[in-house]
Amino acid sequence: MTWFQEGLYDHWQQAFKVTKELYRSEGGLQEIVLFETPQFGRVLALDGVIQVTTGDEFVYHEMLAHLPIYAHGNVRTACVVGGGDGGMLREILKHPTVEKAVLVEIDAGVVEFCREHMPSVSNGAFDDPRVEVIIADGIEFMATTDRRFDLIVIDSTDPIGPGEVLFTESFYKNCARCLTEEGIVVNQNGVPFLQGDEVTATYRRRKPHFTDVGFFVAAVPTYVGGFMALGWASLSQRPRSETFETIARRFAAAPVATRYYTPAIHQAAFALPKFVQDLITDWQ
Ligand code: SAM
Repeated sequence: MTWFQEGLYDHWQQAFKVTKELYRSEGGLQEIVLFETPQFGRVLALDGVIQVTTGDEFVYHEMLAHLPIYAHGNVRTACVVGGGDGGMLREILKHPTVEKAVLVEIDAGVVEFCREHMPSVSNGAFDDPRVEVIIADGIEFMATTDRRFDLIVIDSTDPIGPGEVLFTESFYKNCARCLTEEGIVVNQNGVPFLQGDEVTATYRRRKPHFTDVGFFVAAVPTYVGGFMALGWASLSQRPRSETFETIARRFAAAPVATRYYTPAIHQAAFALPKFVQDLITDWQ
């Protein structure tokens, strides 16, 4: 029996018992490893860092898709930056209001690989006629496109390697430029207990370009270290301040099948632990 040790942190590691290594490729843009585990199902690691497991991906994908979509109320155009596994597209496409979902992924290898080896994650999303896949660096795309989106989901790797540019102020500025008036940007922003600097940096870099900048939280078992911070930025204050009654009414009128997201979780997710609030209050 072997173990896979994740190498994200200098002083702490998590390890997965591996039933079988299914794939390993070291020649592409990123090292891709896929293995089977007894607890989390299939696990994908890029450059040694866990990206998605078939066991708990629903938490992450549901919270970054459904929360902003119900907060907005009428998302028709969405852009996912990163997200080559297709899980974010799968959740976004559950909403019948969505007419177009563009995936901008830097690594074609991840898309092809996940379609073949982790088909339950995208669950047919890549065959949906509303989807357009663009293989490009997200920073270039956002700097040059003339498209506008109601929702931008930054489903990136951590700010090391190719994902680093997706945490820069110039990228956020261009995201703001590419939003419609009531549009929302959300992203994965690390685990504040271990990656608190990321929360502070994101807040500071977004503040000049958006009206409403904040975070919400979700507990994703394989992103270890406590709650994960999910970033929120919008040009209008309206979507984040929607009441529980409005969110619950929208959910009841157009429900999607979920395992984590509910209107009550939506409301509660914006209640930040004090130590997370403290990471951003210095900048307010
Ligand atoms: N759920 C995952 C997590 O939080 O760890 C993220 C999954 S998704 C597989 C991350 C994707 O971002 C990868 O497929 C990677 O290739 C892509 N990516 C990294 N940097 C990028 C960039 N600059 N532009 C577009 N996609 C990028």
